[in-house]
Amino acid sequence: MNYQSCKRCRRLFDYSEGRMICYNCELKEKKQLEKAYAMLRLNPKATKAMIANEMGVKEKIVDELVKSGEIILSEESPIEYFCSKCNARIFKDNLCDNCKEERYAGVKAAHQEIQDKLDEQNARRGVRMHTRR
Ligand SMILES: [Zn+2]
Ligand SMILES: [Zn+2]
Repeated sequence: MNYQSCKRCRRLFDYSEGRMICYNCELKEKKQLEKAYAMLRLNPKATKAMIANEMGVKEKIVDELVKSGEIILSEESPIEYFCSKCNARIFKDNLCDNCKEERYAGVKAAHQEIQDKLDEQNARRGVRMHTRR
């Protein structure tokens, strides 16, 4: 069990993975997101205040949902977000596609390095498989 406090309601909940919000808030958010999606379909040029109002949340939450990729803005949107690395305009997440690719490549390389080290250690130790209990 890994208890964390929910980012929305501050209650402790059993956190497994993904975003730090509890099950209740996630359900609530799903409904709010549906409203946002419906609105953006009808009016891709909706402002942040309009979306927040439609969802019944603070504008800060709209920022958060765009950054986590939950809401994807259209290219006509007046709401502007920029890549946290190169400042290119983006419509979801924190990074533009280019920077994301770069970061992904970096992470992959780091993982590979760790894996290589582990393989090397295991080979040296002559790892036995623990199949019996
Ligand atoms: Zn919650
Ligand atoms: Zn970028």
